[in-house]
Amino acid sequence: MVWNVIREKGQIVDWATLVWSSKVIPRHRFILWLALRGRLNTRDRILAYMDIQDANCLLCDGDTESIYHLFGSCPFVKSLWSKFTLALGFVQLPGSWDEIIVDARIKAKGNRFPANVFKCGFSAIVYRVWAERNARVFGRIRQKIDQTWNDIVFDCGAYIRTWRRVPKSERAWNICRDWKVAYEEITSFESYKGR
Ligand SMILES: [Zn+2]
Repeated sequence: MVWNVIREKGQIVDWATLVWSSKVIPRHRFILWLALRGRLNTRDRILAYMDIQDANCLLCDGDTESIYHLFGSCPFVKSLWSKFTLALGFVQLPGSWDEIIVDARIKAKGNRFPANVFKCGFSAIVYRVWAERNARVFGRIRQKIDQTWNDIVFDCGAYIRTWRRVPKSERAWNICRDWKVAYEEITSFESYKGR
């Protein structure tokens, strides 16, 4: 259908803005891109061409692993999404991956500080969930949700700390506190050399 092609193209353009935003940690881009396009090799996809014994989600051992489960209904990611929205002072994200994507495009719009932290955090979550899933596939040590969340805060905090000239506001102050970023450092007009 022509309409579907147009719609699909429109969505890709929207996602490109998010994926190529300078507020997304560069090493998170590729996984984010694949996740937004539903192209990650989740076990339901592998099952279509290969006989695998276990197609269950490795993060919760509940449902079959699909992109919708992994980034939407899985308790592991659900818990990360709620920590994320709490750390941004947003209301909860919707429950399904499709709806989360739609919502993410709205929340990531513009260049204000909360939207920028959203871009950074959103992609970090997608990246870390996929990384944790892979670690479990290869039998590496399992991380608890809190450890994964700490890694996300650490990565994003380090990245946000390189931003400058964030307008001062109570909202920005709160966000900085939750992402362990020095408020004075990023709201300053001077550059902090060597931190
Ligand atoms: Zn799961």
